[in-house]
Amino acid sequence: MKFINQPQEMSALTAQLKTEQKSIAFVPTMGFLHEGHLSLIKAAQSKYDVVVVSIFVNPRQFGENEDFDNYPRDLERDLKLAEEHGAHIMFHPSQSQMYPAPMRTEVNVIKGNDVLCAKSRPGHFNGVATVVMKLFQLVKPDAAFFGMKDAQQVAILKNMVHDFNMNVDIETVETSREEDGLAKSSRNVNLNKTERQEAASLYKALKKGKELIQMGKERETLLLEVENELIASTSAEIDYIDLLTFPELEVPQQLTGQLILAGAIRFQQVRLIDNITFEL
Ligand code: AMP
Repeated sequence: MKFINQPQEMSALTAQLKTEQKSIAFVPTMGFLHEGHLSLIKAAQSKYDVVVVSIFVNPRQFGENEDFDNYPRDLERDLKLAEEHGAHIMFHPSQSQMYPAPMRTEVNVIKGNDVLCAKSRPGHFNGVATVVMKLFQLVKPDAAFFGMKDAQQVAILKNMVHDFNMNVDIETVETSREEDGLAKSSRNVNLNKTERQEAASLYKALKKGKELIQMGKERETLLLEVENELIASTSAEIDYIDLLTFPELEVPQQLTGQLILAGAIRFQQVRLIDNITFEL
């Protein structure tokens, strides 16, 4: 696996791969890799000639009181895992390499930027879209792989590549979970023992919500029931539980079609998100 940290070197390598007619798949991450990330790398590797993985903890997508400093990092372990799972190139720029000067331009997400995580993380999705735009310019991938754990991010980035005529296929991979159902996340290491035991209740509550929808419950009633279930099973503060259409992220007029039931809860140091998307 080739290790690159200079953006210019990444661009030059991409240009060379293009002349060799190689197809390029890209897996952007913030590192501290787990099975979820590795499933993206594996999926990318099964369909494309070259897999580029990036590790960059992007300060622009963290709010002031969020866990940027506390975000877990272990580059040596990540390099080993990425290589073992089929990555060919690891791009790991520093903050100053990615943002050598204050940005004068950023991507402003319009649709889907006032619901779910956007409500409690103002600026987050503009930060995500901006860094992904920059990374796509450097890596010039044919396809980029993202996890459905971050379904709102998927919806927003699909809109971005469409709106800006970017020639990148956004491919998605299902959420990889621990045995008790907790979605794998780099942040899970920052849960204390009790919080870790309670953390799976988010997915359990969402699954119960899905059953209630299938039983024909009204949106407001079932959202309340999911919240009550969470209040009973965890000490975490509920950030939101919501049911929207997917990928439009709009309040459904009726409970049919493709839907997303999503939630976020906040423990002492860790905010967890999860969702289920399904068709009715
Ligand atoms: P992150 O490092 O958290 O920015 O995540 C990088 C990529 O991995 C994103 O596309 C995430 O959606 C994806 N990802 C994170 N956790 C999971 C998971 N449990 N299952 C599948 N994909 C995931």
